[in-house]
Amino acid sequence: MLNRMPNFIDPLAFAERQRQLQGVLPISEFKRLASYLANDDSLLEIELNFKKERRLATIEGHLQANLELICQNCLAPMVWSNTIKINLAIIKSLEQADLLAAEYEPLLLEAEKVSLVLMLEDEILLALPDFPRHEHACISNYADKKNLAANEQVATKPNPFAVLAQLKFNGD
Ligand SMILES: [Zn+2]
Repeated sequence: MLNRMPNFIDPLAFAERQRQLQGVLPISEFKRLASYLANDDSLLEIELNFKKERRLATIEGHLQANLELICQNCLAPMVWSNTIKINLAIIKSLEQADLLAAEYEPLLLEAEKVSLVLMLEDEILLALPDFPRHEHACISNYADKKNLAANEQVATKPNPFAVLAQLKFNGD
């Protein structure tokens, strides 16, 4: 089941033949993801179905990404698992993009063959959170403790006699 995917595909030929691609690619090959990752030793699981309906060639499927991102709160690794839906329509000119149904994302074909990594990398980059952070309060915990300590210090500062005097004064 864990076939390694080809590096380059011919999406139009695949669509003609209604091909299905199923397999994995090492995440270390996705160079543009490198700066987001705490480690790059996971595999991207991929299922793509190439179809042709009337004259429109499409690629539908999903990616299963189990990545270790860097939490932007505490800078420690955090697991990010996500199933990313793929719904691409292959176009040869930008004008064609305007004619697409809204459910499709255009894939502009500039050469016969397409790098699978570059194509899927775009999809992952779009799906990545803008500000990855742990679901638990990893850093606010730390900040709260600091605040608490600061408050305790402030609380011990006023002269207890002055406070007592103030209470008496208000009571009268
Ligand atoms: Zn964190």
